[in-house]
Amino acid sequence: MLPTIAIVHHCDCALAPRNDTLTSHKGLVMLVVMKANASENDVRVVCQKIESLGLRAHAIPGAQRTAIGITGNRGEVEPGTFEALECVQEVIRVSKPYKLVSREVKEDDTILRFPDSDATIGGNEVAVIAGPCGVESREQAFAAAERVAKAGARFFRGGAYKPRTSPYAFQGLGELGLQILAEVRERFGLLIVTEAVDHESLALVEQYADVIQIGARNMQNFSLLKRAGRASKPVLLKRGMSATVEEFLMAAEYIMSEGNYNVILCERGVRTFADHTRNTLDLSVVPAVQRLSHLPIIVDPSHGTGKRNKVTPLSRAAVAVGADGLIIEVHPDPDNALSDGNQSLFPDQFDSLMVEVRLIAAVLGRTIADSLAFPAARGHAGAAAD
Ligand code: PEP
Ligand code: MN
Repeated sequence: MLPTIAIVHHCDCALAPRNDTLTSHKGLVMLVVMKANASENDVRVVCQKIESLGLRAHAIPGAQRTAIGITGNRGEVEPGTFEALECVQEVIRVSKPYKLVSREVKEDDTILRFPDSDATIGGNEVAVIAGPCGVESREQAFAAAERVAKAGARFFRGGAYKPRTSPYAFQGLGELGLQILAEVRERFGLLIVTEAVDHESLALVEQYADVIQIGARNMQNFSLLKRAGRASKPVLLKRGMSATVEEFLMAAEYIMSEGNYNVILCERGVRTFADHTRNTLDLSVVPAVQRLSHLPIIVDPSHGTGKRNKVTPLSRAAVAVGADGLIIEVHPDPDNALSDGNQSLFPDQFDSLMVEVRLIAAVLGRTIADSLAFPAARGHAGAAAD
């Protein structure tokens, strides 16, 4: 039996009582390390004890060990409560505001796997998600899907619900868009990544998609994050356009604290004074996040630059910096796209991009998939994380 870790969270807000020695404004987390020979039943007993204290236990399996995270709003747990247990090796205090997200809780990289597919996110293969900004028609989606699948993408992106700056701009096809995406999966064997903008769309996206995207504008929509945390599908969480690394990781923590451990982080550019691009793609966040968290992090050079001619160079850089994947907008007719045409690649440009990033990945000992053989039909259940 591998060692198991349980964490106890004591406080996560500045309003917590100052006389609590386990409390700080950063939030104090405790790790309860199980003995190496602890049985599954021992883990269950610890979980039950945690829950009997009115806190929540999270079992997080890893390659080396299983982690049991404990979350809750109140700091009522004494370390001795766990140290007294025979199966507990030690209790470690960690002063990180995020916990389930943290490498201290789970050392090994999280690798997301998908049913009936050998695609992964977070493993050795650099995942490529490609497709139009929005699903505009069956014809448009199929044309994009055919080309991105042929070029080696394993995942298809396309919004059925679009968060637009203007209420008069194309808002997406809604459920019809989701139905088209489901057809894309059937026809081309691509896994579907699509955005949910609110609770209502999330319920539908959860049914149709393989990955639920939460957009930059919703990164701190805490009730939506909690709902995504109760979803049965993995969540692609985009960084808010002014979010610090800590805020980004805390948003992921919201999702995980509700029991969904299948989270993929995505850097998509932040707002700066620079006006030569739509946003400033912060590639340094990739190694920064990888130090702090076991979650995969991918890069979106399309929204990160907003300009078609910068997407390929920044994709190369993202792979070189160690990103676990790319999400790229590709449209069969970008000049007539209903959203984000300026940053959408022509399919031929995407072909070249894939050739280039495959070479760069190889330098780092990583791979990028080749063309999928399709048609390939598959169902769509949830994913499993290591
Ligand atoms: C998108 O992926 O089309 C999108 C709206 O992204 P973001 O939330 O990063 O702006
Ligand atoms: Mn877009």
